[in-house]
Amino acid sequence: MSDTRIINPTSKRILVTGGAGFLGSHLCDRLVEAGHEVLCIDNYFTGRRSNVRHLLSAPNFELMRHDVTFPLYVEVDEIYNLACPASPIHYQHDPVQTTKTSVHGAINMLGLAKRLDAKIMQASTSEVYGDPDIHPQPETYWGNVNPIGVRSCYDEGKRCAETLFFDYHRQHNLRIKVARIFNTYGPRMHPHDGRVVSNFIMQALKNEDITIFGDGQQTRSFCYCDDLIDAFIRLMDTPDDVTGPINTGNPGEFSMLELAQAVIDLTGTKSKIVHKPLPQDDPKQRQPDITLAKEHLAWEPKIPLREGLVPTIAYFEGLVKEGFA
Ligand code: NAD
Ligand code: UDP
Ligand code: UDP
Repeated sequence: MSDTRIINPTSKRILVTGGAGFLGSHLCDRLVEAGHEVLCIDNYFTGRRSNVRHLLSAPNFELMRHDVTFPLYVEVDEIYNLACPASPIHYQHDPVQTTKTSVHGAINMLGLAKRLDAKIMQASTSEVYGDPDIHPQPETYWGNVNPIGVRSCYDEGKRCAETLFFDYHRQHNLRIKVARIFNTYGPRMHPHDGRVVSNFIMQALKNEDITIFGDGQQTRSFCYCDDLIDAFIRLMDTPDDVTGPINTGNPGEFSMLELAQAVIDLTGTKSKIVHKPLPQDDPKQRQPDITLAKEHLAWEPKIPLREGLVPTIAYFEGLVKEGFA
């Protein structure tokens, strides 16, 4: 990559791992628009080139196929480490690779940051809290995670990545930032990731039954992607003593029945709600405590659920029309 700082001193060279995925592609959009030199790397396991196709002609964007479990030698000022499948059907497809991605990926990206003295942010997850026994979850809560279950490759991989981040920070003075992300939705989500937002929208668009698991009274908090990307950028710009972990998510709580009704209203579907058995260990409630984010990032989500669902539905409609979903 050329060094754009010679031309524009405020522009940085920024690496986004997992940049062709849902969140990564929105982050690349924002960084390219801000005039930074962006290097996007991805192994296309769940991400797609089409998510960043519109950026390929930008002179300050570069896309490279690379798997973070292998070393990477490039020159950058900042690293956003997002590479990792996020939905259970994807991360359970090859659980060993999932753990390797989180752990070896973190080691390689931290080694890269160490050599360059680059600032590095980790996309961690609310799953580090496991099946929490306190609500909402503050960052001080250590979690309740099963180390040997089918979700462990994701949960424990992300927990180990956090450990590595803090040890590189303490041992090598690395400038680190750790964001614990709660459920996020928006355009470019994978249509078949089995998550509730994509399931309900796809079912509604195809006039199929909307499948509520259990009685639908369980609640979740959904953050629109643009709000989350704001939090990432603010976190990266915090002073060096702000390392996180910091919860990032939307504390607004909705029951699955409310979500289904919102999707029905906004799509005008003929779909009917049907109830299916509740999966084992399905948490009754998940909600972020974002006190720290408010304090350190001066951030809170702005986009209400029904507003964020509109562009999300439009995106899925496009996929259905083009025959991609
Ligand atoms: P995503 O699956 O759309 O994006 C992940 C990207 O990483 C994909 O493009 C995938 O191809 C790539 N990838 C996977 N393994 C890789 C590897 N070994 N090397 C290089 N690239 C690899 O998921 P997302 O929702 O955009 O999630 C991005 C990050 O945010 C993930 O780390 C995820 O754990 C985290 N996160 C997301 C959510 C959410 O609600 N979306 C919640 C918590 C945490
Ligand atoms: N690494 C990398 N790019 C770099 C520097 C390091 O991918 O520019 C990887 C390399 O695989 C290394 C890992 O990061 O093994 C950890 O690096 P570190 O310097 O911490 O440890 P070491 O090199 O001693 O194993
Ligand atoms: N869910 C549902 N119907 C679906 C998919 C999911 O009712 O088609 C429920 C699921 O049981 C859970 C909630 O929606 O209570 C959120 O599920 P998701 O897998 O999206 O996320 P997570 O459980 O990890 O928060």
